[in-house]
Amino acid sequence: MESSMVSKDIPDIENLLALNPKVTKYANLVSSTETKNNKKHWKRNSTKGCSDCPPRTKNFDDIKHTTLSERGALREAARCLKCADAPCQKSCPTQLDIKSFITSIANKNYYGAAKAIFSDNPLGLTCGMVCPTSDLCVGGCNLYAAEEGPINIGGLQQFATEIFKAMKIPQIRDPSLPPMEDLPDSYRAKVALLGCGPASISCATFLARLGYTDLTIYEKYDYIGGLSSSEIPQYRLPYSVVDFEVQLAKDLGVKIEKGRSLSTSDITVQKLKSEGFEAVFLGIGMPDPKKIPIFADLKESMGFFTSKDFLPKVSAASKAGMCSCKSTLPQLSGKVIVLGAGDTAFDCATSALRCGAKRVYVVFRKGFTNIRAVPEEVKSVILFFTHMTSLG
Ligand SMILES: Cc1cc2nc3c(=O)[nH]c(=O)nc-3n(C[C@H](O)[C@H](O)[C@H](O)COP(=O)(O)OP(=O)(O)OC[C@H]3O[C@@H](n4cnc5c(N)ncnc54)[C@H](O)[C@@H]3O)c2cc1C
Ligand code: SF4
Repeated sequence: MESSMVSKDIPDIENLLALNPKVTKYANLVSSTETKNNKKHWKRNSTKGCSDCPPRTKNFDDIKHTTLSERGALREAARCLKCADAPCQKSCPTQLDIKSFITSIANKNYYGAAKAIFSDNPLGLTCGMVCPTSDLCVGGCNLYAAEEGPINIGGLQQFATEIFKAMKIPQIRDPSLPPMEDLPDSYRAKVALLGCGPASISCATFLARLGYTDLTIYEKYDYIGGLSSSEIPQYRLPYSVVDFEVQLAKDLGVKIEKGRSLSTSDITVQKLKSEGFEAVFLGIGMPDPKKIPIFADLKESMGFFTSKDFLPKVSAASKAGMCSCKSTLPQLSGKVIVLGAGDTAFDCATSALRCGAKRVYVVFRKGFTNIRAVPEEVKSVILFFTHMTSLG
């Protein structure tokens, strides 16, 4: 065999290989350090666990991964098939006309898209940001098995409604409805709504759109929005979003009284009746945590929190504009265990990391396929640990 041959292939193949400029006769030797440095030129290859990564502690500035730029939104809207029997719409609890608002976005009619969304859902921006879409509209999308995946419906909804928010257009009653002065006296009935969470804000908005003029929401705390404000963390739902949607309700004349609670010492249904209220909407949510007896003697000073103790403290300290209260983040350190694997658990886990925890373990009874939280939120947690033993 000739000495210049580099393989045992017959000579004509050797010649062909020699003609191909991509074939080298030697191995490339690049040190790992150099490869790591080269990687930094590529945005998506950020180094995991790097020492120069921005610290997460006290940092609530993340941008939701479903957020779309205008170009991204137009591209996503163009992908939608506008299915005749749109299963996305059939999976939406608020009955949004999804393919219609996506068509408006594709035509760059962002106002029209937002109008369609807010007409069906007064909390259209909140839902665009936090709706568990993979269980709902996105889960039903006909493009689910396509290469590029289902349409990012939540992202499109957020995009259109955020543009509308920036337009600062006040909400008005549908001009095609009968004018207020032609409505019967029953529309001037006094209506009280207790609790200023999503349920009451939505109910008050729909009543006001119908023409009811005397609507008052009574809220226990000095901030509005219920769990959207007090428990869903800033990086998923900023307070400015809640404030904007409450402002839309106020545009229609809805009154809000803060610091008023349904209790024997303040508001009772009897008192409301005696003050001339003809209807009461109860929207106080579920304010108390569910505790199991084995945790009965544990306290915050021992490092034990329920989500209802922990998340409102995190929100009060991290949500700009939520309340005038001067509060600080709960200080955590070392390893933190979060029990349960629903959405609340993952909000606690991601918040705990921002409150100083070095490592967070999400501990739950069943397997990964039984995690109740939506996959988008699960992905945002650094580390999981399955603990198969029942604690209850
Ligand atoms: C951590 C967490 C994360 C969540 N994440 C999501 C999500 O990603 N997507 C999603 O769709 N849903 C999510 N949810 C659920 C969602 O927040 C609730 O379904 C929604 O807030 C319920 O609205 P509500 O108006 O019925 O009650 P609440 O939001 O609880 O509002 C009730 C309001 O009533 C007030 N109130 C209570 N008692 C009184 C009283 N006696 N007198 C006067 N006012 C009173 C409260 O202060 C509060 O403002 C989450 C919930 C939690 C806890
Ligand atoms: S199912 Fe998917 S592709 Fe079809 S209309 Fe809905 S979002 Fe568009």
